[in-house]
Amino acid sequence: MKKTVLHTGAERRRTSDDAARLEGVLDTVVDAIIISDETGCIEIFNAAAEKIFGYSRDEIVGQSIGMLMTENDRRNHHAYLSRYLSTQTPHLIGTGREVIAQRRNGNTFYAEISISETTLEGRTTFTAIIRDITDQKASQDRITQLAYFDQETSLPNRAYLQERLESLLHSGAPRCFLLSIDMGDLTKLYSLFGAHGINLIVGGYGRRLLGQLTPGSIVARTGQHHFKALFIPMPNEKRSTAELADHLYRKMMQPLAVSNSNVYLNCRFGMLEAIPSNVSAEQLIERSDIALLEATSTPGCNFLLFRPEYEEKIHRHSLIVQLLHRSMAEMPFHLYLQPQYHIETGEVVGAEALIRWANPEDDWVSPDEFIPIAETTGLIQQITQWTLVKACAIAHSWRSVRGGKPLRMGVNVSAYELVSPTFSQRVESILQESGLDPRRLELEITETALVTNVALASSNLHKLQQMGVTVAIDDFGTGQSSLSYLTLFTIDRLKVDRSFVQGAARGKRAQALLETIVHLGHAMHIPVIAEGVESERILSALREMGCDEAQGNLLSNLYRLRRLSS
Ligand code: C2E
Ligand code: CA
Ligand code: CA
Repeated sequence: MKKTVLHTGAERRRTSDDAARLEGVLDTVVDAIIISDETGCIEIFNAAAEKIFGYSRDEIVGQSIGMLMTENDRRNHHAYLSRYLSTQTPHLIGTGREVIAQRRNGNTFYAEISISETTLEGRTTFTAIIRDITDQKASQDRITQLAYFDQETSLPNRAYLQERLESLLHSGAPRCFLLSIDMGDLTKLYSLFGAHGINLIVGGYGRRLLGQLTPGSIVARTGQHHFKALFIPMPNEKRSTAELADHLYRKMMQPLAVSNSNVYLNCRFGMLEAIPSNVSAEQLIERSDIALLEATSTPGCNFLLFRPEYEEKIHRHSLIVQLLHRSMAEMPFHLYLQPQYHIETGEVVGAEALIRWANPEDDWVSPDEFIPIAETTGLIQQITQWTLVKACAIAHSWRSVRGGKPLRMGVNVSAYELVSPTFSQRVESILQESGLDPRRLELEITETALVTNVALASSNLHKLQQMGVTVAIDDFGTGQSSLSYLTLFTIDRLKVDRSFVQGAARGKRAQALLETIVHLGHAMHIPVIAEGVESERILSALREMGCDEAQGNLLSNLYRLRRLSS
């Protein structure tokens, strides 16, 4: 209710002069200034307020301040004022509150408002200073959009997901799941759909996934072809984690129509149940990635639930990567040699060079473990170079030591080397520098190495065989490849894998398998060598089968390079 104040004539004149002066001053201010009495009736409305709200001073002065608010705020405001009038306790006084205000045309906008209360001669007024922050808000929104959303698909990004996961963990939410999804190799689709089309595909699948999850779930794009999803299953969800993952997997495997074509994915999932613990949101996200990595490196595996041993494996892997890199300067490797014997005559016919690594941590790491890591980190070339140089040098030195038949030197060669266009040249120059007769070098190659890229492998092998180098198929029988490569390449020796050799000691069927491999080699006029011979029984069985050569712990332990060379 408006309070009435009685003035004398002089006072009245002075008051209206003061008011006019005050209004003149207020009109120069860029912010809207609105003065209202304690019932919310507007008394002063400056020029900036006219501009911001769209009302002229004449139409708004004397009206309720509620006219500048949204419907909802207006109701709250009335309640607030009546509470204030009865209790005299202000709640809204202060600076810098953000509100939504309403213009004359009904449009709403973000405003920053500071309210102060003045009591003069027993009369209370409220002064509101209001700033239109629409532009500021829009640029803030834009910054948020850039910081938390993927620009191509408008899906949230990793930072957004991480913040949501953090707040879920802090709020002690019930069990929630984190899913890391690899969409498979989309690079092949670039030529067909272009970068824009790929973004449509990623966005399309992201939205499809979101549609399968409980309300409030998040699907974030966390890489070019990667999603992460965060969801809380329904309280009455009866499906197990595996069933849930399987359901989502099936949905993702259904084709997506893009530009009149159907896109088919081959996606993989890594999954994790996020339980509040001392593990941070960031670590949990990493763990979902670790589960995904394990799933992608396991053939035929569509999804995996995180297990601590996957993390240990990754840690060990990165430790070995670091140690290997550190080793490259000093090359702290040794060659051990395992002699190979002719079964009938008992004569030594050659030796296989096997690498040992004295790594900086002085930790024993088997070549079975570090060679595959050297292959994927590009260090294999340096290691092969080192092995070949050492092996050729030592084999060359034997010539004078052993008067009899020239011994051959078997060197293991990784599949990665066999498809390297420079491999045959590198071997050739090592042979030339060592002076070793190429016919005494035998490269041991696995079946998978041959079929990875038949053209490159055969070009390298052809050049080497032309020089006289021989080729043995290592671990024969264990690869998934068909035997057809036996007709595509010239093969000088089959090395029966030690699992078959050792298996033959355990049963008739395994023995029959070993015999079949020996016969297969002979039918193709390829000599056969058995590795991993550990017992007399196996050696005599091999002799009966007509197997040509053998190597293994029974016949000799491994010789360290220095010992054999002396
Ligand atoms: P591989 O080529 O099949 O080598 C035979 C493995 O069997 C060797 O393991 C050898 O020590 C082991 N062995 C020999 N005789 C017996 C036996 O009687 N019983 C048993 N149980 N095992 C026996 P190692 O030295 O640990 O090498 C493992 C694998 O690492 C090799 O398998 C080969 O694939 C790879 N490797 C070793 N040295 C090199 C190398 O210089 N370069 C490359 N690229 N790979 C290598
Ligand atoms: Ca071998
Ligand atoms: Ca083998």
